[in-house]
Amino acid sequence: MITRFAPSPTGHLHLGHALAAAAAHETARAIGGHMLLRMEDIDTSRVREEYYGAIEEDLHWLGITWQGTPWRQLDRMAAYQEALNQLQEIDLIYPCFCTRKEIQAMTSAPQQGDETEALLYPGTCRELSAAEREKNMLIRPGFAWRLHAHKAAAMIGDASFDDLRYGSTRIDANLLGDVVLARKDIGVAYHLAVVIDDAVQNVTHVTRGEDLLSSTHVHCLLQHLLGLVRPLYLHHELVCDHQGKRLAKRHDALSLRSMRAAGVSADEIMGRLRPLLLRNLAAIL
Ligand SMILES: [Zn+2]
Repeated sequence: MITRFAPSPTGHLHLGHALAAAAAHETARAIGGHMLLRMEDIDTSRVREEYYGAIEEDLHWLGITWQGTPWRQLDRMAAYQEALNQLQEIDLIYPCFCTRKEIQAMTSAPQQGDETEALLYPGTCRELSAAEREKNMLIRPGFAWRLHAHKAAAMIGDASFDDLRYGSTRIDANLLGDVVLARKDIGVAYHLAVVIDDAVQNVTHVTRGEDLLSSTHVHCLLQHLLGLVRPLYLHHELVCDHQGKRLAKRHDALSLRSMRAAGVSADEIMGRLRPLLLRNLAAIL
């Protein structure tokens, strides 16, 4: 029985991370297993070395423990490439040459709130002929790889995943459209890396914020396509600030470090999270 906490070393942990870490930790305890710590550090433009240690230090301060050496996704690029090759062999991914600007122009959907809403890619490059594709691959400096969502949906047929709060959910392969599985700048993307790592690390229970529920459709689709064992999911509520907005790294005042510097104790933080944990992990605790 294995759970994991998977932060990105792109900033200090805040109260929202503390909840996610505590949820994974508590779940591991309740099911008689252990928690792993995984650094999701593929976005090297935002990662800073100092945050790796800071994350471990903040978790220790909270009393949250994990088993083994924290896993770094940057060490795992070969495995992601292998999965990508596998998907390419069955013709389920295609190269996308669009720039961010071009995609924004194509998807006139307004940005909702302050979080980056996933804009559905219209599939421009999916329609390229083999000749155009080959030409572009030679002359364009970099390209991303996208999932051919329709084709993948047809391949898996009717399938569902289980979430301990949301119940059985039918996988909607088209929910997020043709997501990027390999970014042009780093050669992999979140959706692919997380699915491979959960499988290779034998994670049995994935606990994480409900903002990722839509991503889980993509993850379960990939598990089907790559023949991976699917973990059980539990998507929990997010910690919000006093305005009801979910916390982000810019909420410096609510970083665990700032709270600690202001004299807040780890016990007080865990006490504050307790009702949320009990409510969200009711199916497990
Ligand atoms: Zn494109």
